[in-house]
Amino acid sequence: MNRLYDALIVGAGLAGSTLAYRLTLAGRNVLLVSDPSIPSASRTAAGLINPVTGQRLVLQEGAEALLASAKHFYRGIEARFGVSILHECEMLRILCSEKEKQAWENRTGDPAYNAYIDHELYDHPDINTGYGGFFQHHTWYLDTNTILDTLHQWFREQEILIEAPLSYGDITIESDNIQWQTVQADKIIFCEGWRGEKNPWFDWLPFQPAKGEILTLSSDAPIPTYMINRGKWLLPTSEGVFKLGATYERGELNETATEDAKQELLDVLEHIFPGRPVTRVTNHMAGVRPGTRDKQPFIGIHPEHARLGIFNGFGSKGSLMIPWHAEAFTCHLIDGAPLPAQADIRRWHG
Ligand SMILES: Cc1cc2nc3c(=O)[nH]c(=O)nc-3n(C[C@H](O)[C@H](O)[C@H](O)COP(=O)(O)OP(=O)(O)OC[C@H]3O[C@@H](n4cnc5c(N)ncnc54)[C@H](O)[C@@H]3O)c2cc1C
Repeated sequence: MNRLYDALIVGAGLAGSTLAYRLTLAGRNVLLVSDPSIPSASRTAAGLINPVTGQRLVLQEGAEALLASAKHFYRGIEARFGVSILHECEMLRILCSEKEKQAWENRTGDPAYNAYIDHELYDHPDINTGYGGFFQHHTWYLDTNTILDTLHQWFREQEILIEAPLSYGDITIESDNIQWQTVQADKIIFCEGWRGEKNPWFDWLPFQPAKGEILTLSSDAPIPTYMINRGKWLLPTSEGVFKLGATYERGELNETATEDAKQELLDVLEHIFPGRPVTRVTNHMAGVRPGTRDKQPFIGIHPEHARLGIFNGFGSKGSLMIPWHAEAFTCHLIDGAPLPAQADIRRWHG
C-alpha cells in the first residue's frame, strides 16, 4: 500500500464510506483507514429519512434534490451488490400540543408540503393520538449496517481499507503530498464523526455533538406496519420486531447505554400504546451524533492547508444528507466545482 493515492480517507462510517465509494466510481485512487474498535454513529442509527421534522414541521431545505440523490445512490448499491438497504415506510406523526396542531394546519395550506403531509387526521383505537395524528409520506429508513458491511467488504476486496487507528502525530504534511506510515496521498480527508471535534486542524469548527440511545424490542401483540413519531419514534423492522428511539443528550458524550434512557423510551411506548402487553427489550445501543452549531455539514478543504479536507457534521440526518453532499464534494475535488455555501467550512473561518 505504498503507492500514491489521490485521497486518504479517515473514518469508514456512512460519510467516509460514501465519499470513498463516490470517488472510486469517479476513477480516483482512495485508501480508507478506519478503526472498527472506535464506535461509529452510523452503526447505532436507525437510518430514518424524514424530510419534515421538528415541532414546527419544517420541510428540509432542498428536500427534493436530497431525496432524489439518496434514492439514486442507495438503489445503485442495491442493484450492484444484490442487497436490500432502503425501505419506504409511511410515518404516523402524532401532534403533542395545540401549537403543533396549529403548525400542521398551517402546513396543509402550503402547496410545498402537499407531497409530504396528509390533510386528514387519522385515528386508531390502540394508539393515543393526542391532539391528532396525520400521515407523512416520502419517509424511509436505511439499513445502515447492511450498507456498511457491503461497502467495507468491497473495499477489502479492492485492498483499499486499512482497519486500524490513525494518530494525528503520525501525519506529515509535505508541500506535494501528505504521508501517513508508508502511505503517500495527495490529500487526507477526515470523516471521523463526532470525534472530529478533537482534530487539531479543524478544532475551530463548532461541532455540537449529541448522544442518543435506541432500543430494539420484540412484541407478541401485532404492531402497525408504519412508523409512529411523537417526538420519539417507533420503527417496525420485521414481524413483531421494532426499534424505539432516540434520546437526545448534549451533556455526557459517550457510547454507554444507560438505564435512564431505557426508561425514558419505554415511557414513550407506554404513552403511545396505553395498556399494551409487555414487550421485551432485545438490544440497547448508544451513539453520538456529529451535530454542528448551525445544523449544516462541515465540508471542504482547510483554508491554510490545501492537502487537508473534511466531510463531517451530518448531525441527525446522515442518511438523507450524505449522498448529495458526497456528490457535491466529489465534483469540488475533481473539477473545482463550488461547494454548497451552507455546507462549506469557510463560513466559519474569519
Ligand atoms: C442514536 C442515534 C440515532 C440516529 N438516528 C439517525 C436516523 O434515524 N437517521 C439519520 O439519518 N441519522 C441518524 N443518526 C445520525 C447518523 O448516525 C449520522 O448522521 C451519520 O451516521 C454520521 O456518519 P459519520 O460517518 O459522519 O460518523 P460515524 O458513523 O461515527 O463514523 C466515523 C468513523 O470514523 C472512525 N474513526 C474516528 N476516529 C478515528 C481514528 N482516529 N482512526 C481511525 N478511525 C477513526 C470511527 O471508527 C467511525 O467508523 C443517529 C445517530 C445516533 C447516535
